[in-house]
Amino acid sequence: MSVFSPRRYQLPFHPVRRDDESLPERAFTAFEQTIKGALFGCRMCGNCILQETAFVCPMTCPKGLRNGLCGGASPDRCEVDPSRPCTWHQIYERAEEMGRLGSLLEINAPIDGNRAGRETWIDTVQKWREWDEGPRPLDFLLNREKFDADWEQFFYNLRQPDWWEGDAEYHPPTYEQPISVLEANLRTGQFVTTAEIAPPLSVAQHVIHKKVGWLQEYVSAANFTDNASASPRMGSMASSKICMEAGIEPVMQLQARDRTRVVIESDAMGAAGLGIHNILCLSGDHQSFGPSPMPTPDQFDMDAIQMLWMLRRMRDEGRYLDGRNIKHRPEFFLGAAASPFGAPPKYEALRLEKKINAGAQFIQTQPIFDYDGFREWLEAADKRNLLDKVYVLAGLIPLKSARAAHFMAEEVPGVVIPDEIVRRMDEAGDKEGQQEEGVAIALEMIEKLKATPGIAGMHVMAVHWEAIVPRLVEAAQLPRPAVQTLRELEPVMVEARE
Ligand code: SF4
Repeated sequence: MSVFSPRRYQLPFHPVRRDDESLPERAFTAFEQTIKGALFGCRMCGNCILQETAFVCPMTCPKGLRNGLCGGASPDRCEVDPSRPCTWHQIYERAEEMGRLGSLLEINAPIDGNRAGRETWIDTVQKWREWDEGPRPLDFLLNREKFDADWEQFFYNLRQPDWWEGDAEYHPPTYEQPISVLEANLRTGQFVTTAEIAPPLSVAQHVIHKKVGWLQEYVSAANFTDNASASPRMGSMASSKICMEAGIEPVMQLQARDRTRVVIESDAMGAAGLGIHNILCLSGDHQSFGPSPMPTPDQFDMDAIQMLWMLRRMRDEGRYLDGRNIKHRPEFFLGAAASPFGAPPKYEALRLEKKINAGAQFIQTQPIFDYDGFREWLEAADKRNLLDKVYVLAGLIPLKSARAAHFMAEEVPGVVIPDEIVRRMDEAGDKEGQQEEGVAIALEMIEKLKATPGIAGMHVMAVHWEAIVPRLVEAAQLPRPAVQTLRELEPVMVEARE
């Protein structure tokens, strides 16, 4: 176990090539690795951000997340390896103790693979000597304020390479007209409903057509998961395209687990080229959640926040991560997930702010069963002035059986179901009785959500029970989508403004 960080989850990185390293340099790298391994569980990523993460190494997180915790994190344990604490929870706690919580807002770059496995101490000293503006040792004695400011700036420059330029600022979208039907509906201010359709386990297009037929009149968009739980299905882009042709605008989920930065850029560009504009950026479930045999469990090349930052800049600044210009820019309406019940709300709100700053325009939350807990999270978000910068769609799962309620309450990280709801499902009798109770619980929650300030609508995740969505929308007297196609947009927006 290392002194400051949880133990290392995977072996240290090694340089891709060593022919440019002298023997003394290699010896120094081995020395640095020994010290940093003992102190920080360092993986020798060569892109050190310890300054920002309260001196807990983020690369000890099994997913290698560099911008905050994942949706399944809890104060007690890591969702991937319950025998260890959540690295990011420790980072938040340590940063709070040190009064440096605000520094966690800066959006950190993904790793530059050319630096992986290399020493950083000599490199840091060399850069310090090259940088004329300090921090100067004399200022430490004579002008501490200047020294501290120079110190911060120096490490900021080290952390933020020219190709990334991450910061802690909000970057509003630079376009005016809505990019998608979903965005247009959200802008009307009317309560919006979206729903999830599970991509088929086969090539059966007719399954998507059938479900689109059920939902068409009722939802503004349909989400397609992207190999959720690390389990293969029809791809999210293909499902989205079929859905669009069948008549509902899709939200294509794009997860980072199975993709490098190159594939993320390429897939997002491809989707926009096909006319799929709503993209929900996710870090993704760890490989260990999938069926056996497990794929090579490596850390993720990017996390959801880095994806948002990169895709927003492709859209608004017209450039790839490597700096090449994009002549015809992609149009994305970018979304992200939020987990109101994972870590304490103050930490989850910080992560939400980071996602919004990076580029998230709409948020779909984990399913809400604990309304009071959800309000706490909303209040924490409101305290950070986030609710007027993003559309929040509250997650809703109609429970189909008592078994499903137990499974979610006991097994699914980031989901909280109060005992009272589990008890109601247990006492609801046979299969039909349980389904009716599940619908009643969902309708009670919709009533509360409709009256909740800061909520733009709801996202229904009735996996393998999509047919229930029309009944919920009708019974709760929710409005139908105001905008069906972008062509009809102008009159509706004028009406909404009036
Ligand atoms: S819970 Fe998530 S964020 Fe925390 S250490 Fe595990 S994988 Fe990383």
